[in-house]
Amino acid sequence: MNRSDSEEMAGRLLAAGATEAPTMEAADLVVINTCAIRELAEQKVIGRQGYLNALKASNASLRVVLTGCAVRERDREGLERRFPAVDLFLRPDEEPELVDRLGLASAQAPVGAVGATTIVGRTAVGVADHLSATRAAAVASGAVQRGSAISAWLPIIYGCDKTCTYCIVPFSRGPERSRPFDEIVAEARAIAEAGFREVTLLGQNVNSYGHDLAPEPRFGHIATERWAGRRLDLGSRPDLAELIRAIDALRTADGVPAIPRLRFITSHPWDLSDRLIEAMAACPSLCESLHLPVQSGDDEVLRRMGRQYTTGHYLERLEKIRAAIPGITVSTDVIVGFCGETEAQFERTLRFLAAVRYDQVFAAAYSERPGTPATRLADDVPTAEKRRRLNALLAIQEPIGLERNQAWLGRDVEVLVDTIARERSHDHEEPAGDGAAEGEVAGSRGVHPGPGEVALSGRTRGNKLVHLAGPTAWLGELVTVRVDHAGPYALRGRPVVS
Ligand code: SF4
Repeated sequence: MNRSDSEEMAGRLLAAGATEAPTMEAADLVVINTCAIRELAEQKVIGRQGYLNALKASNASLRVVLTGCAVRERDREGLERRFPAVDLFLRPDEEPELVDRLGLASAQAPVGAVGATTIVGRTAVGVADHLSATRAAAVASGAVQRGSAISAWLPIIYGCDKTCTYCIVPFSRGPERSRPFDEIVAEARAIAEAGFREVTLLGQNVNSYGHDLAPEPRFGHIATERWAGRRLDLGSRPDLAELIRAIDALRTADGVPAIPRLRFITSHPWDLSDRLIEAMAACPSLCESLHLPVQSGDDEVLRRMGRQYTTGHYLERLEKIRAAIPGITVSTDVIVGFCGETEAQFERTLRFLAAVRYDQVFAAAYSERPGTPATRLADDVPTAEKRRRLNALLAIQEPIGLERNQAWLGRDVEVLVDTIARERSHDHEEPAGDGAAEGEVAGSRGVHPGPGEVALSGRTRGNKLVHLAGPTAWLGELVTVRVDHAGPYALRGRPVVS
């Protein structure tokens, strides 16, 4: 979501006449889009304040803007103390105001009002109901500076209504607000016409899309039941299933999906409806991969986390989706060392991971986020113990990831090539995380290009990272690759030449 927001801000600045500086030292404006989901991410930005102040000392016209989840309404006074180099703070919902607030807009341009706020719990948060409209305007005027010409982000819902006690997002991004159905389909159509090969539908809770929109007769066939969380009237409103079907229905003259690959992130288990599973199975463009955060394999910890489902609920959904889409790859998020997590509860999480056998697990040690409900619980697992649990979890998961990747050996996979890699003298396989963005250089990981070739990488439909050799012209192409090596975090293979 931050990457997508940054594309929109960069586009607005360029449209207002700014140009991209080659280095931070040469810039007159630095915009920092923060993540505050973990303490470490916020600490990194705090740690850059001295460097930014030094830059300001040598360039009096330099201005620094801080936005993203670190900027929260309740924190306004504390922000200046923690981020002394910053001139302007913008909440995530105030980002469309960036150009106006900097005075970069023309004298005639309307100066946007400061975003409205609402109360979540006891905290004032941004509620900006203009985000859909400002996004539509940015798309229509071409003021979205997409970071890739291959894969596009498409935000469909802003904010979060969930109750996870550890999470800052409902307080930083406000309540859920869905973009109008037709605007999203129009943006998808424009993305297809621009030649993108992949679209990822974005939201903090992408699968709760539509519940806050007005009912319409054309959606009268939709009668989704929500099986957890607060009761919602979902009848006659569009949902993610309907949106996926509408985007999948955008076809070329040959009748194939105009966007070959469609993904969505991130889902909450309680909104994973049967309708969504059916749409995923029915739509050829929808990639066979799902990120479904579980956070813990222990029901009591899940209850304290406010996740509103049990491991039983979660497994029932997972079984259903695996039956509907055989071979689907599944990844998850896990927090270790949450308040009061006992050794036995942690062991249950390990057994859960061993039973589910995820393709990938993104694990993090719990860190208390000021202003979240979990601050009322004791953060009583010592730091060293959290680290031990994290290592124990990774020791369980790594062989599972390796085994799941080895199942692809000898098989042909379709790879969307998105990266040109560079050779490194000490190349070895290492955790790839999100992988490099399109066009970024990354390690070639054991690929040995021949004459006229470079080391490339890309993703399968199941979101597996694949390294291969080939011409640079393959960047942005769908290439069939026969897998001949599998590591815990990536595959390697040779192109299949027909
Ligand atoms: S669903 Fe939970 S973890 Fe995800 S953004 Fe909302 S509150 Fe945070």
